[in-house]
Amino acid sequence: MSLKVNNKKASDDQFNQAADLIGLDEEVRLSLIAPDRELMVEVPLRKDDGSIQSFRGYRVQHNNSRGPFKGGIRFHEEVDLDEVRALAALMTWKTALVDIPYGGGKGGITVNPNNLSVLELERLSRRFFRSIDPIIGLNRDIPAPDVNTNAQIMAWFMDEYGMMNGHTPGIVTGKPIELGGSLGREAATGRGTAIITRESANFFNLDLSRSNVVIQGFGNVGSYTAKFLDEMGSKIIAVSDVNGGLYEPDGFDVPSLIEFNSKNRTVKGCGQGSAISNEKLIGLECDFLIPAALGGVIHKMNVDELNCKVVVEAANGPVTPTADKKLFEKNIHVVPDILTNAGGVTVSYFEWVQNLQQLQWDESEVNEKLEKKMVSAFEEVSILMEQRKTSMRMAAFAVAIDRVAQAYALRGI
Ligand code: NAD
Repeated sequence: MSLKVNNKKASDDQFNQAADLIGLDEEVRLSLIAPDRELMVEVPLRKDDGSIQSFRGYRVQHNNSRGPFKGGIRFHEEVDLDEVRALAALMTWKTALVDIPYGGGKGGITVNPNNLSVLELERLSRRFFRSIDPIIGLNRDIPAPDVNTNAQIMAWFMDEYGMMNGHTPGIVTGKPIELGGSLGREAATGRGTAIITRESANFFNLDLSRSNVVIQGFGNVGSYTAKFLDEMGSKIIAVSDVNGGLYEPDGFDVPSLIEFNSKNRTVKGCGQGSAISNEKLIGLECDFLIPAALGGVIHKMNVDELNCKVVVEAANGPVTPTADKKLFEKNIHVVPDILTNAGGVTVSYFEWVQNLQQLQWDESEVNEKLEKKMVSAFEEVSILMEQRKTSMRMAAFAVAIDRVAQAYALRGI
C-alpha cells in the first residue's frame, strides 16, 4: 500500500519550512513557490481500430532563474495537474542542490500506456510533443524520461522536434546512445544513490562494508543501486518488486540476481532467498532501507514498524510528511530524494552539454564528474544540517532554495 504524496501542498509545506530556516523574504518566497507557467493540452489519439480517444497532457514550468526548465515526462493514469506541479517544483530544488544550470519542470499524460499498442504509443507521444512545442526549446525547456517513458519515446520526441525545427538532439535527454544519449546515463541514478549511501555511512559512522541493505523496487534505480552497493561491500539482504519481495539474511549473489531480473523483469523465481511481502520488507532490521519504487510507501500507518538506521529515498517522495516527522523524532535519518536520486538529472545535464558541443565523453569521464557533483552536494547538506541542527531534508531544501533565491535576486524582475 502507498499513500499519494506528490502533491503541491506537501511540497509547499517543505518549501516553507526550509524558507523559514534561511529567513527567506516573504515576497521572494511567494514568487519562488508559484509555477512560472502551466500548459494543459488535449491530446487526441487515432487508435489502431480507427476510433479516436482523447487524453489530457501537461507541462508545468516551475522556475528558470538558474537555467532552462528541466524535468521528465510521465505517462500514468494517476497523472494530474497537482502532481505535475509538485514534481516540477521538486526539479527546481534538485537541479539547484547539485548545482547544475537548470530550473525545474515536469510533464505528463493521464494515460495507462499498457493499454496502448506500440504504434498508438508512438502516435500519442508525437502528438503530445507537438502540443507542447510552443514552450519547449534547447535553451528553454528540456524534457526527459520519467515513469513509463523511456529512451525510445525520447527518440520520437527528438524526431518530432527535428522535423519542425531542424536536427536538435539536445532538445531532450535520456535518448538512446545512437542518437546522442550519454554513456553512463542508464546507471546514473543508481550510481548516485550508492554514492550518497556511502557518504551517509561515513557521516553517520556506519561501516558500509559491514552494513545490511534492504531495497524496495528492482527496476532501473533499485537494480543499479544494488549493483554498486554490492561492489562497495554492503550486504543486500532483501529486495522486491511489484510481484513481492525476497529475503536472504546471508546476502544475495547480486550479479546473478541482476542477470535473472534483466531476463525475467522480476526477482520472483530467481532461486535465492525466501518470499516476503513488500509490507514486511519495510520492517526488516537493517542499516539502510532504500525505497526505489513508488511515492508514499512509508506512511503514518507503517512508520512505527521501521527497523533501520537510515532511510535513503531513491524514489521520489517515498516518505510522507507525517512519517518524515515521526522518523526525525525517532532519530532514524532520512536522506532526501532531491539529494539521493539527483544522479539522473546530473547525467542528463552532461548529455545536454555533450549534445551542445557535438561530442561524446568516455563513460569514465561521466562517472568521475557525477561522483564529484554528488559528493559536493552531500557535503554542503551535511554541513548545514549540523550547523542548524535540522533534518537532512530541510538542509537540502535550504541549500537549494538559497541558490535559486540568489539567482532570482540577481536577475531582477
Ligand atoms: P522502473 O519502472 O525501472 O522500476 C520500478 C520498480 O518498482 C520495478 O521493479 C517495479 O516492479 C517496482 N514496483 C512497482 N510497483 C511496486 C510496488 N507496489 N511495490 C514494490 N515495488 C514496486 O522505475 P525506476 O526508473 O527505477 O524509478 C523508480 C523510482 O525512482 C521512481 O519513484 C522514480 O520517480 C524515481 N527516480 C528515477 C530516476 C531514473 O533515472 N530512473 C531518477 C530520479 C528518480
